[in-house]
Amino acid sequence: MEMFSLRGRCAMITGAGRGIGRAIAGAMARAGAHVILSGRTSAPLNDAAEILNQSGYTASALVMDVASPAAIEAGFVRLSGLTDRLDILVNNAGIEEICPSVDVDEARWDRILGTNLKGAFFCARQAARIMGQGGSILNICSLTSEVGIPTAVPYGAAKTGLAGVTRALAAEWAPRGIRVNGIGPGYFRTAMTEGFYADEDWCQTMLGKIPMRRFGELAELEGAAVFLCSPAASYITGQILYIDGGFLASI
Ligand code: NAP
Repeated sequence: MEMFSLRGRCAMITGAGRGIGRAIAGAMARAGAHVILSGRTSAPLNDAAEILNQSGYTASALVMDVASPAAIEAGFVRLSGLTDRLDILVNNAGIEEICPSVDVDEARWDRILGTNLKGAFFCARQAARIMGQGGSILNICSLTSEVGIPTAVPYGAAKTGLAGVTRALAAEWAPRGIRVNGIGPGYFRTAMTEGFYADEDWCQTMLGKIPMRRFGELAELEGAAVFLCSPAASYITGQILYIDGGFLASI
Protein backbone atom coordinates (compact mmCIF):
# COMPACT_ATOMS: atom_id res chain seq x y z
CA MET A 1 0.00 0.00 0.00
CA GLU A 2 3.07 2.26 -0.03
CA MET A 3 1.91 3.90 -3.26
CA PHE A 4 -1.04 5.40 -1.37
CA SER A 5 1.05 6.62 1.57
CA LEU A 6 1.57 10.31 2.35
CA ARG A 7 4.30 9.58 4.90
CA GLY A 8 6.87 12.36 5.08
CA ARG A 9 4.58 14.80 3.26
CA CYS A 10 3.13 18.02 4.63
CA ALA A 11 -0.44 18.86 3.58
CA MET A 12 -2.34 22.09 4.14
CA ILE A 13 -6.14 21.91 3.95
CA THR A 14 -8.13 25.16 3.87
CA GLY A 15 -11.52 25.23 5.55
CA ALA A 16 -10.48 22.27 7.70
CA GLY A 17 -12.34 23.10 10.90
CA ARG A 18 -15.46 21.22 9.89
CA GLY A 19 -17.21 19.37 7.10
CA ILE A 20 -15.40 18.08 4.04
CA GLY A 21 -12.11 19.81 4.86
CA ARG A 22 -11.97 18.29 8.32
CA ALA A 23 -12.67 14.82 6.92
CA ILE A 24 -9.97 15.14 4.25
CA ALA A 25 -7.47 16.47 6.83
CA GLY A 26 -8.12 13.46 9.04
CA ALA A 27 -7.69 11.06 6.14
CA MET A 28 -4.43 12.67 5.07
CA ALA A 29 -3.12 12.53 8.65
CA ARG A 30 -4.01 8.83 8.84
CA ALA A 31 -2.21 8.34 5.51
CA GLY A 32 0.94 9.66 7.20
CA ALA A 33 1.06 13.36 6.35
CA HIS A 34 1.73 16.21 8.75
CA VAL A 35 -1.50 18.15 8.25
CA ILE A 36 -1.92 21.90 8.62
CA LEU A 37 -5.59 22.65 9.28
CA SER A 38 -6.45 26.11 8.06
CA GLY A 39 -9.56 28.32 8.30
CA ARG A 40 -10.83 31.61 9.65
CA THR A 41 -11.87 30.42 13.13
CA SER A 42 -9.23 29.08 15.50
CA ALA A 43 -11.38 27.02 17.92
CA PRO A 44 -12.51 24.26 15.52
CA LEU A 45 -9.04 24.10 13.94
CA ASN A 46 -7.37 23.69 17.34
CA ASP A 47 -9.98 21.10 18.31
CA ALA A 48 -9.44 19.04 15.15
CA ALA A 49 -5.65 19.29 15.43
CA GLU A 50 -5.72 18.25 19.08
CA ILE A 51 -7.86 15.18 18.36
CA LEU A 52 -5.46 14.10 15.60
CA ASN A 53 -2.36 14.71 17.73
CA GLN A 54 -3.89 12.76 20.64
CA SER A 55 -4.47 9.86 18.24
CA GLY A 56 -0.78 9.78 17.35
CA TYR A 57 -0.89 11.77 14.10
CA THR A 58 0.78 15.11 13.40
CA ALA A 59 -1.41 18.17 12.97
CA SER A 60 -1.14 21.93 13.36
CA ALA A 61 -3.66 24.77 13.09
CA LEU A 62 -3.23 27.93 11.03
CA VAL A 63 -5.73 30.77 10.98
CA MET A 64 -5.95 32.20 7.46
CA ASP A 65 -8.78 33.94 5.60
CA VAL A 66 -8.58 32.93 1.94
CA ALA A 67 -10.90 35.76 0.85
CA SER A 68 -7.95 38.17 0.93
CA PRO A 69 -4.72 37.62 -1.05
CA ALA A 70 -2.89 39.77 1.52
CA ALA A 71 -4.16 37.53 4.33
CA ILE A 72 -3.07 34.47 2.32
CA GLU A 73 0.44 35.89 1.94
CA ALA A 74 0.58 36.60 5.68
CA GLY A 75 -0.74 33.10 6.39
CA PHE A 76 1.96 31.49 4.30
CA VAL A 77 4.59 33.48 6.23
CA ARG A 78 3.20 32.00 9.45
CA LEU A 79 3.08 28.57 7.76
CA SER A 80 6.88 28.66 7.49
CA GLY A 81 6.95 28.65 11.30
CA LEU A 82 5.01 25.36 11.37
CA THR A 83 6.78 23.40 8.61
CA ASP A 84 9.85 23.64 6.43
CA ARG A 85 8.09 21.99 3.48
CA LEU A 86 4.71 21.89 1.75
CA ASP A 87 3.83 18.99 -0.55
CA ILE A 88 0.03 19.11 -0.72
CA LEU A 89 -2.53 21.91 -0.75
CA VAL A 90 -6.25 21.16 -0.59
CA ASN A 91 -8.27 24.20 -1.65
CA ASN A 92 -11.44 23.32 0.23
CA ALA A 93 -12.54 26.59 1.89
CA GLY A 94 -15.81 27.68 0.38
CA ILE A 95 -19.09 29.48 0.92
CA GLU A 96 -22.44 29.13 -0.79
CA GLU A 97 -25.40 31.53 -0.77
CA ILE A 98 -28.61 30.66 -2.57
CA CYS A 99 -30.20 33.74 -4.13
CA PRO A 100 -32.40 34.46 -7.16
CA SER A 101 -30.10 35.94 -9.78
CA VAL A 102 -32.17 39.12 -10.13
CA ASP A 103 -31.33 39.87 -6.49
CA VAL A 104 -27.59 39.10 -6.60
CA ASP A 105 -25.70 42.30 -5.84
CA GLU A 106 -22.04 43.05 -6.39
CA ALA A 107 -21.10 42.41 -2.77
CA ARG A 108 -22.60 38.90 -2.86
CA TRP A 109 -20.94 38.14 -6.20
CA ASP A 110 -17.55 39.34 -4.90
CA ARG A 111 -17.92 37.48 -1.60
CA ILE A 112 -18.66 34.12 -3.25
CA LEU A 113 -16.10 34.36 -6.05
CA GLY A 114 -13.57 35.93 -3.68
CA THR A 115 -13.55 32.88 -1.41
CA ASN A 116 -14.26 29.98 -3.78
CA LEU A 117 -12.26 31.08 -6.83
CA LYS A 118 -9.86 33.94 -6.10
CA GLY A 119 -8.95 32.47 -2.74
CA ALA A 120 -8.18 29.07 -4.24
CA PHE A 121 -6.01 30.57 -6.97
CA PHE A 122 -3.97 32.74 -4.60
CA CYS A 123 -3.47 29.83 -2.18
CA ALA A 124 -2.26 27.72 -5.11
CA ARG A 125 0.10 30.49 -6.20
CA GLN A 126 1.62 30.78 -2.73
CA ALA A 127 1.88 26.99 -2.39
CA ALA A 128 3.58 26.58 -5.77
CA ARG A 129 6.22 29.11 -4.74
CA ILE A 130 7.34 26.89 -1.87
CA MET A 131 6.74 23.38 -3.29
CA GLY A 132 10.39 22.59 -3.87
CA GLN A 133 10.56 19.07 -5.32
CA GLY A 134 7.07 19.16 -6.77
CA GLY A 135 3.75 18.66 -5.09
CA SER A 136 0.04 18.17 -5.45
CA ILE A 137 -2.86 20.61 -5.36
CA LEU A 138 -6.43 19.40 -4.94
CA ASN A 139 -9.28 21.80 -5.64
CA ILE A 140 -12.68 20.99 -4.19
CA CYS A 141 -15.03 21.66 -7.08
CA SER A 142 -18.74 20.87 -7.29
CA LEU A 143 -21.48 19.51 -9.52
CA THR A 144 -21.91 23.19 -10.45
CA SER A 145 -18.49 22.95 -12.12
CA GLU A 146 -20.39 20.93 -14.75
CA VAL A 147 -24.10 21.77 -14.60
CA GLY A 148 -26.17 24.89 -14.02
CA ILE A 149 -28.12 25.03 -10.78
CA PRO A 150 -30.80 27.75 -10.43
CA THR A 151 -30.22 30.41 -7.72
CA ALA A 152 -26.58 29.36 -7.37
CA VAL A 153 -25.09 31.41 -10.20
CA PRO A 154 -22.14 33.10 -8.39
CA TYR A 155 -21.29 29.77 -6.75
CA GLY A 156 -21.55 27.95 -10.09
CA ALA A 157 -19.42 30.61 -11.76
CA ALA A 158 -16.80 30.19 -9.06
CA LYS A 159 -16.77 26.40 -9.22
CA THR A 160 -16.77 26.32 -13.03
CA GLY A 161 -13.89 28.78 -12.85
CA LEU A 162 -12.13 26.53 -10.36
CA ALA A 163 -12.34 23.66 -12.83
CA GLY A 164 -10.69 25.92 -15.41
CA VAL A 165 -8.02 26.94 -12.91
CA THR A 166 -7.41 23.24 -12.19
CA ARG A 167 -6.78 22.41 -15.84
CA ALA A 168 -4.73 25.51 -16.65
CA LEU A 169 -2.48 25.24 -13.59
CA ALA A 170 -2.04 21.52 -14.27
CA ALA A 171 -0.73 22.38 -17.74
CA GLU A 172 1.44 25.24 -16.52
CA TRP A 173 2.99 23.53 -13.52
CA ALA A 174 3.41 19.98 -14.85
CA PRO A 175 7.02 20.77 -15.87
CA ARG A 176 7.68 21.80 -12.24
CA GLY A 177 6.37 18.48 -10.93
CA ILE A 178 3.24 20.02 -9.42
CA ARG A 179 0.05 18.08 -10.17
CA VAL A 180 -3.29 19.89 -9.95
CA ASN A 181 -6.53 17.93 -9.72
CA GLY A 182 -10.01 18.35 -8.36
CA ILE A 183 -12.76 16.49 -6.60
CA GLY A 184 -16.39 17.33 -7.32
CA PRO A 185 -18.57 16.21 -4.43
CA GLY A 186 -22.22 15.54 -5.14
CA TYR A 187 -24.63 15.94 -2.22
CA PHE A 188 -23.03 15.72 1.24
CA ARG A 189 -24.66 16.90 4.45
CA THR A 190 -22.55 19.61 6.12
CA ALA A 191 -23.09 23.00 7.77
CA MET A 192 -23.08 24.52 4.28
CA THR A 193 -25.91 22.34 3.00
CA GLU A 194 -27.79 21.65 6.26
CA GLY A 195 -30.68 23.93 5.29
CA PHE A 196 -31.53 21.84 2.22
CA TYR A 197 -31.76 18.60 4.18
CA ALA A 198 -34.38 20.06 6.52
CA ASP A 199 -36.72 20.16 3.51
CA GLU A 200 -38.15 16.66 3.00
CA ASP A 201 -39.50 17.51 -0.48
CA TRP A 202 -36.03 18.66 -1.55
CA CYS A 203 -34.49 15.45 -0.19
CA GLN A 204 -36.94 13.23 -2.09
CA THR A 205 -36.47 15.21 -5.32
CA MET A 206 -32.68 15.00 -5.08
CA LEU A 207 -32.69 11.31 -4.16
CA GLY A 208 -34.72 10.73 -7.31
CA LYS A 209 -31.88 12.25 -9.35
CA ILE A 210 -29.08 10.25 -7.70
CA PRO A 211 -28.86 6.73 -9.19
CA MET A 212 -27.50 5.31 -5.92
CA ARG A 213 -30.62 6.75 -4.18
CA ARG A 214 -28.69 8.08 -1.19
CA PHE A 215 -26.61 11.11 -0.21
CA GLY A 216 -22.85 10.82 0.21
CA GLU A 217 -21.02 10.21 3.47
CA LEU A 218 -17.96 12.41 4.15
CA ALA A 219 -15.80 9.31 4.46
CA GLU A 220 -16.62 8.55 0.83
CA LEU A 221 -14.55 11.58 -0.25
CA GLU A 222 -11.50 10.68 1.80
CA GLY A 223 -10.01 7.88 -0.29
CA ALA A 224 -10.16 9.86 -3.52
CA ALA A 225 -8.53 12.88 -1.88
CA VAL A 226 -5.66 10.80 -0.49
CA PHE A 227 -5.30 8.90 -3.77
CA LEU A 228 -5.08 12.01 -5.97
CA CYS A 229 -2.35 13.47 -3.74
CA SER A 230 -0.41 10.20 -3.39
CA PRO A 231 2.34 8.58 -5.50
CA ALA A 232 -0.36 6.26 -6.92
CA ALA A 233 -1.64 9.24 -8.93
CA SER A 234 1.79 10.38 -10.14
CA TYR A 235 0.69 10.58 -13.83
CA ILE A 236 -2.72 12.13 -13.15
CA THR A 237 -3.05 15.88 -13.51
CA GLY A 238 -5.73 18.30 -14.69
CA GLN A 239 -8.53 15.87 -13.81
CA ILE A 240 -11.67 16.34 -11.75
CA LEU A 241 -13.15 13.28 -10.14
CA TYR A 242 -16.87 13.56 -9.41
CA ILE A 243 -18.03 11.66 -6.36
CA ASP A 244 -21.77 11.87 -6.69
CA GLY A 245 -23.46 8.46 -6.58
CA GLY A 246 -23.88 8.60 -10.36
CA PHE A 247 -25.65 11.99 -10.55
CA LEU A 248 -23.65 13.46 -13.47
CA ALA A 249 -23.58 10.18 -15.33
CA SER A 250 -27.35 10.03 -15.46
CA ILE A 251 -28.55 13.53 -16.32
P1 NAP B 1 -18.73 23.85 5.49
O1 NAP B 1 -19.03 22.80 6.48
O2 NAP B 1 -19.49 25.13 5.53
O3 NAP B 1 -17.16 24.15 5.56
C1 NAP B 1 -16.59 25.23 4.90
C2 NAP B 1 -15.26 25.51 5.53
O4 NAP B 1 -14.65 26.62 4.85
C3 NAP B 1 -15.39 25.90 7.00
O5 NAP B 1 -14.40 25.20 7.71
C4 NAP B 1 -15.13 27.40 7.00
O6 NAP B 1 -14.54 27.71 8.23
C5 NAP B 1 -14.17 27.55 5.81
N1 NAP B 1 -14.16 28.88 5.22
C6 NAP B 1 -15.21 29.58 4.72
N2 NAP B 1 -14.81 30.76 4.27
C7 NAP B 1 -13.47 30.82 4.48
C8 NAP B 1 -12.46 31.79 4.22
N3 NAP B 1 -12.77 33.00 3.69
N4 NAP B 1 -11.20 31.51 4.56
C9 NAP B 1 -10.88 30.32 5.12
N5 NAP B 1 -11.77 29.36 5.38
C10 NAP B 1 -13.05 29.61 5.07
O7 NAP B 1 -18.92 23.31 4.01
P2 NAP B 1 -18.50 21.95 3.26
O8 NAP B 1 -19.74 21.36 2.73
O9 NAP B 1 -17.60 21.12 4.11
O10 NAP B 1 -17.72 22.56 2.01
C11 NAP B 1 -16.34 22.36 1.80
C12 NAP B 1 -16.06 22.56 0.31
O11 NAP B 1 -16.77 21.57 -0.43
C13 NAP B 1 -16.54 23.91 -0.23
O12 NAP B 1 -15.61 24.40 -1.18
C14 NAP B 1 -17.84 23.56 -0.93
O13 NAP B 1 -18.15 24.47 -1.94
C15 NAP B 1 -17.51 22.18 -1.44
N6 NAP B 1 -18.67 21.34 -1.77
C16 NAP B 1 -19.51 20.91 -0.80
C17 NAP B 1 -20.58 20.08 -1.16
C18 NAP B 1 -21.53 19.51 -0.12
O14 NAP B 1 -22.48 18.81 -0.53
N7 NAP B 1 -21.36 19.75 1.16
C19 NAP B 1 -20.78 19.74 -2.48
C20 NAP B 1 -19.91 20.22 -3.45
C21 NAP B 1 -18.85 21.00 -3.07
P3 NAP B 1 -14.55 29.16 8.91
O15 NAP B 1 -15.93 29.71 8.69
O16 NAP B 1 -14.20 28.93 10.32
O17 NAP B 1 -13.47 29.90 8.19
